[in-house]
Amino acid sequence: MSTMTDRASGVRSEKLSVAHDQATGMQAVIAIDDTTLGPGLGGVRWMPYPGIDAAATEAVRLARGMTLKNALAEIPYGGAKAVILRNDDGAERNAVLRAFGRLVADLDGTYIPGVDMGTSIEDLAVIGTVSPDVACSRDDPSPWTALGVYAGIAAAVRHFDHSDLDGHRVVVQGTGHVGSSLALRLADAGAEVLVTDIDPERSERVAASVGGRSVEPEEALAISCDVLAPCAQARVITATNAPNLGCRIVAGAANDMLSERACAAALAGMGISYVPDFLLNAGGVIHIHAIRSGWDHQHLGGVVMEIGHRTGKILERAEATGRTPLDVAEEMATDRLGHLASVPL
Ligand code: NAD
Repeated sequence: MSTMTDRASGVRSEKLSVAHDQATGMQAVIAIDDTTLGPGLGGVRWMPYPGIDAAATEAVRLARGMTLKNALAEIPYGGAKAVILRNDDGAERNAVLRAFGRLVADLDGTYIPGVDMGTSIEDLAVIGTVSPDVACSRDDPSPWTALGVYAGIAAAVRHFDHSDLDGHRVVVQGTGHVGSSLALRLADAGAEVLVTDIDPERSERVAASVGGRSVEPEEALAISCDVLAPCAQARVITATNAPNLGCRIVAGAANDMLSERACAAALAGMGISYVPDFLLNAGGVIHIHAIRSGWDHQHLGGVVMEIGHRTGKILERAEATGRTPLDVAEEMATDRLGHLASVPL
């Protein structure tokens, strides 16, 4: 266990645990970025990676996003993230999860794992049989994440167009847990919804269920639209594809959406507003906090919808000071943390 600075992103984690369990073949990384505000809260991502270094880089970057997200959402948690390396060696899933749970238990409550890409609430329940404090072992936070993203998109449209979502075109990239729920809310609000997914069947199914249209993943980013809502993988906006984007606003759920920090300023230079991912996608962690605090759904819904007010405030301050919304959001998180925190380079 050690601190680690990821050279490429310039992010230094408070603590990094790298583990290999010989019995199950489980390989995992847990990055605890910052515990100033409380134990590190962040999901467990289970995906294939080229090696442990790539997995560590991903965990370190995503953990920083969680620090910013939890600080901005004003909940009492630090930032952390875990990555389990998926391989096809046929290891029994629950055995891998239990081995991972032992790694979490060794961290003495400084890391609270939740759901992320590749894991489910059932998986978190298995981890919870070994490590006492896990989130998302009973309820899926995704609909609350989608609600917060929806509130943020509506606020951005209100800020820039002084109107509601009716008739606005939104492209949702990724029709999984969050994207499908978001697409439904957008359609209910009268938006024209276009969806895309590398799983064409899922994309068609979600499009049909919301009265929208399914488009090819390769063409989605360039489609002319008001809002592009990335709800799939990390680092989807790059210096290379930014000039080809067809949207006016980028606002979605995907964590670590920009391949590099400089993309935010580059987008602004092209007249595209990037609303920070860690600002919009906090509905899931707020839901976790609500369960731990015994809130009812009404109170939870109200707090998640606050993401819309916060988005409006940040966009106004950015406009008034000539800075990007990313700079302003980081400043607000930094104020809460009492020390500088910024997204990876
Ligand atoms: P998910 O795995 O349920 O869905 C992701 C979907 O994206 C899948 O259907 C997948 O096929 C699709 N996809 C992957 N690559 C794609 C590409 N290049 N083009 C189009 N589609 C692609 O994941 P999710 O839980 O919906 O999360 C989506 C994103 O939101 C992730 O980045 C996640 O980290 C972030 N997020 C999720 C939550 C939550 O509550 N689930 C909370 C905060 C942030």
